Amino acid sequence: MTISLTENTAILSQFLSLPQNGKVLAEYIWIDAEGNTRSKCKTLSKKPSSVDDLPEWNYDGSSTMQAPGHDSDVYLRPVAFYPDPFRKGDNILVLCECWNNDGTPNKFNHRHECAKLMKAHANEKVWFGLEQEYTLFDQYDYPYGWPKGGFPAPQGPYYCGVGTGKVVARDVIEAHYRACLYAGINISGINAEVMPSQWEFQVGPCEGIEMGDQLWMARYLLNRCGESFGIKISFHPKPVNQSTINGSGCHTNVSTVGMREEGGMKVIEEAISKLAKRHKEHMLLYGADNDLRLTGSCETAAMDSFSSGVANRGASIRIPRQVAKEGFGYFEDRRPASNIDPYLVTGIMVETICGAIPDADMSKEFAREAEDI
Ligand code: ADP
Ligand code: MN
Ligand code: MN
Ligand code: MN
Repeated sequence: MTISLTENTAILSQFLSLPQNGKVLAEYIWIDAEGNTRSKCKTLSKKPSSVDDLPEWNYDGSSTMQAPGHDSDVYLRPVAFYPDPFRKGDNILVLCECWNNDGTPNKFNHRHECAKLMKAHANEKVWFGLEQEYTLFDQYDYPYGWPKGGFPAPQGPYYCGVGTGKVVARDVIEAHYRACLYAGINISGINAEVMPSQWEFQVGPCEGIEMGDQLWMARYLLNRCGESFGIKISFHPKPVNQSTINGSGCHTNVSTVGMREEGGMKVIEEAISKLAKRHKEHMLLYGADNDLRLTGSCETAAMDSFSSGVANRGASIRIPRQVAKEGFGYFEDRRPASNIDPYLVTGIMVETICGAIPDADMSKEFAREAEDI
């Protein structure tokens, strides 16, 4: 597919400045069967003041592998909305949960179950910070800016790199940063990564269910920015499958209120011993193809072993040096892959460190994905 001819032209801008006659454009966004976002737009007669003002909607789930053809309607239930950085004005982006016709959550809707755990443990005020790594590809599926028919020079100069030959496509990254701020996403930073054409953004700290919501919105915004520049975004954990080339993760930084207070190191250590006991269950929810990434080299721990350490980037769990020094703060789970569903990961994290609840089970929730539609 070639780049849109009309994108950003002076001709289009004539139309974009036309008044909307009081109407509001609401872009309804959902998560599909393959961990991509999809969206469609609805005209509203006025600006909503809360999410309850937004009507339920639906789409053809048989076109997204989320429902069978004979019963194809999937319902979109708005859960949060954000200012739209592309259309601006009163226009909004609406994040939705997917629900089936029989009143059950769609099997790719992991938000519903995660939200129960977050609610049950709201008093623990669990904060997350997610480090989303990703890679840029050109429209022919070649890593963006790589020499044609070969590999770039070995890794080293690219991480946090500055200058031609070290980083590519800074425009896309800058556009995304601004789009996130405009939309109210709690984006906490960006950096160029170890593999050329690989970047990272961080979202957080966000409390509870908001972590998953904000990361999905930030991914949506990144795909939209890439679309404007004719660049593809890949969240695959090992986009270039070579042992000397880094993969992509989604490091998950976590703290409870107890960890953030004086003496919090003890609470952090207790959480780590709980995590050690459920290593296998967590790994199942930490992203497809993560085995290609967690090899034990390229700043990762091996897939089948659990380890932790202060300032250790080769461990499953890292306690930042500063946290060990001060005696309180947070820890970093380095195992999750770049393609995780953050609802599954933040959900099982709270289940393990704060305690299971009778009406939610994140492992079973993940297993639902394998059921027939
Ligand atoms: P790294 O040194 O691993 O590259 P980053 O700076 O990329 O770390 O990301 C750290 C993330 O952790 C940020 O999103 C930040 O907002 C988040 N964070 C900071 N403090 C806390 C905390 N107490 N609890 C949870 N997340 C936190
Ligand atoms: Mn980082
Ligand atoms: Mn990183
Ligand atoms: Mn990290």
